[in-house]
Order: sequence, then structure tokens, then C-alpha cells
Amino acid sequence: MAQEYKNSSGCKGNIAIIGAGASGCMCAYFLLKAGADVTLFDFGEPLRTLLPTGGGRCNLAHAEFDFRELAKNYPRGEKFLYSVFSRFSTADTIELFENIGVKTYIQENGRIFPESNSAKDVRKKILENLNKAQFDREKINSIERIEGGYKLVGTSAYFFSHVVIAIGGHSSFNILKNFDIKITAPKPSLVGLNTDIKMPSGIVLKNVLSKDLNIKDDILFTHFGISGPLTYTISSIKAREEFPYKLTFDLYPQEFDLQKLLNTYPHKDLKNILAEIFPLNFAKNILGELSGIKAHKINGAMRDSILDKIHNFEVTVTGTNRGEETVTAGGVNLDEVNPKTMEAKNFPNLYFTGECLDIDGFCGGFNLQNAWSTAFSASQSILSD
Ligand SMILES: Cc1cc2nc3c(=O)[nH]c(=O)nc-3n(C[C@H](O)[C@H](O)[C@H](O)COP(=O)(O)OP(=O)(O)OC[C@H]3O[C@@H](n4cnc5c(N)ncnc54)[C@H](O)[C@@H]3O)c2cc1C
Repeated sequence: MAQEYKNSSGCKGNIAIIGAGASGCMCAYFLLKAGADVTLFDFGEPLRTLLPTGGGRCNLAHAEFDFRELAKNYPRGEKFLYSVFSRFSTADTIELFENIGVKTYIQENGRIFPESNSAKDVRKKILENLNKAQFDREKINSIERIEGGYKLVGTSAYFFSHVVIAIGGHSSFNILKNFDIKITAPKPSLVGLNTDIKMPSGIVLKNVLSKDLNIKDDILFTHFGISGPLTYTISSIKAREEFPYKLTFDLYPQEFDLQKLLNTYPHKDLKNILAEIFPLNFAKNILGELSGIKAHKINGAMRDSILDKIHNFEVTVTGTNRGEETVTAGGVNLDEVNPKTMEAKNFPNLYFTGECLDIDGFCGGFNLQNAWSTAFSASQSILSD
């Protein structure tokens, strides 16, 4: 859908955006472009949260151009996002970045990056387009509804007719203590998982199958448990599940005749036979005391028990790896927000954008897409006020 920007005759009031992260800054961009009066509050440097994205390359969207298909990548928020993405989706994001001087390209796996491969560059380009915004470097501690708008309290008190809350998922929701708005407690998502089984860090297995969720991807074994792409997806789908829970993996879900290998190499240690399909230190770890036994000494029962370990590898998940989370699952309950406008249903002119909503997606550019799209919806609603 083509982007539309309302002109400056739109919103007559003054607008505060709390949080100068991805969604707050983009909301400011849309509003400023239409000539609105915008103040951005943040206790830190604006858009610093963009710098680590995509490992410093900024995976800013995903090449899924059907908005219903796109919404399937959000374990929380799918239905709500239909409305959001029908207004502003992947093609709009590419056009938006092109307009501010960021050319993009699509990687083989569908992830969209800036041609510069630099989150620093994307940040610079967005900030250049916000030069008419007022930045106020302070923390807003509370908001209060007053006649004609809202009072914000930081180091001083401020009055605004419209307020956009764009505080991200990692912040305190105490800022909303004066409002009867339901918040779902944030839980870490896209994160490594602590498990009962620990290995020397850095062992990667390709194309492992999660038997519980029927998804295949690479897994990383570490000193605390498991991480890497497959684990991130699992951590997202199970973000609200109580610990401990069990997971079962097929570590080698393809044709594999162990007996044939044992027969072919009767004098090899078992660990060296398994090293045909796994890294040697992983083979040693899962075989335990069988590791140094010669192949010709492996009987049928032992062989079946090894195969069972490979095809039904069980771990117990005891928690998430603290500090590793990329996003949080939780935030402002979606029943509280109008999906067409991002406005609080019970509080006129109070808006929510980005990760502070109870929306989170998988790895691959989906979380930033949520930030850009919800920012667009909120800005258009404010401008039509
Ligand atoms: C390491 C890492 C890598 C990531 N990589 C990707 C990626 O490649 N692609 C992708 O799609 N997503 C990625 N994400 C997720 C993505 O960065 C977030 O979903 C996105 O930044 C959320 O945008 P936001 O505007 O909602 O919140 P944020 O970007 O978190 O911004 C919130 C801002 O609000 C400010 N704030 C909070 N409370 C207050 C207050 N009371 N007063 C004033 N200011 C306040 C904070 O200081 C912050 O600047 C990554 C996240 C991490 C941590």
C-alpha cells in the first residue's frame, strides 16, 4: 500500500513520544513530515537500541509481502497485526527506507538489510530526518490524564494533547500506574535456554529437528544449555510456558545406517564413527563412557540405545539465559488497544507502538517491522485527529 502523509492542518495539538527507539523515532518521522509539533523523550541516546540489531547490520524487515503470511511470524499479536500490516507492511518499509536514503537488499533467507550492512548508517539516516524534532534527554516517570490531554512527569511536569508510549519491551511499565490498563508480565523471548545438559561452548549442529514443534534449524550447544536459531524459535513459541519443561530433538533427522558404519570400521572407536556425522567433541559428550569402545564390541542393544540418543535427544529446560533475550513476550494487553489506530480504547489520544505492546515476532526482521508499522498507524491516527 502506498504511504500517505496527512498535511500540517491535521493534528492541532502537541505530541509527546516517550521512547526514542525504533518505533518512537519512526512515529516522530511520520508526524514531522506532516508538520506536526513533536517532542521525543528518552533517558538515553536516541535510537541506540538500533545499533546491535542484526549483529550490527540491522535486519530491518523480512521479504514476506503478503500481510497475513507476515503476521504468522508473531507468536503473540498475529490477528491484531492483520489490521496494522494491511496499512503498512514490508513493501512500505522498503519504500520508507529508500525515501530516507537507505537502500536495502534481500538476503537469501528473506532477511532484509541496508545495502551498507550498517545499523549505524540506518540510525544516522533516520536521525537526519528528525532534525525538526525536539529531543528531551530525560526519563518520564509517570503520566496522568488531565483535562484536554496528559501530564507527563520527569524532572519537570509537561502538558501534551497527545502521547505516544514507545518505551520498548525491556522497560518498566510503572509509567502507566495511573491507568487502568492491563499489562501482561514481560518474559524473555528469542533467547538461549538453560538445560540440564551442558557441553563445551560452541558446538553447532545443522538442521536439527525439534520433535515437539516440528521445526528444523541449527542448534548451538553451550556451557549453559542450548542457543542458536532453533532454540530462539522454541524460546519464542514457549515464552509463556512454566519451567521446567522437556524438549526432544532428532539430532540427525536423515538416512543414517549406524550398523553399516560399525561393520565398515570395526576397529574404530565409537566416538570416531559418530564423528562422521557430528563434531568430535559432541560425539564424545553424548556417548559418555561408550565413547572409547571399539565398533566391533557394540551389540544390538547398545546400538539401539545410541540411535535413541540421537533421534530422541531429550533435555530439560530450567530457565532462560539471563541477559541474552532479544525481545520480550508481554506488554500492553492488545484488548486495550484499537488495532486500526494504536490508540488506547479507554483513553483518547494515548497511543502505544512497538515492543511495549504484547506483540513479538521470530528472528528475521519481524520485530522491527512491528515497530515501523505500529508507528505508522499511530501517526496517521494522530494526524487525522
Ligand atoms: C541485540 C538485539 C538485536 C536485535 N536485532 C533485531 C533485528 O535484527 N531485527 C529485528 O526486527 N529486531 C531486532 N531486535 C529487536 C528490536 O530491536 C526491537 O524489537 C525494537 O528495537 C523495538 O523498538 P521499540 O521502539 O518498541 O523499543 P526500543 O527500540 O527498545 O526503544 C525504547 C526506548 O524507550 C526508552 N524509554 C523506556 N522507558 C522510558 C521512560 N520512562 N522515559 C523515557 N524513555 C524511555 C528507552 O531508553 C529506549 O530508547 C533486536 C534486539 C536486540 C536486543
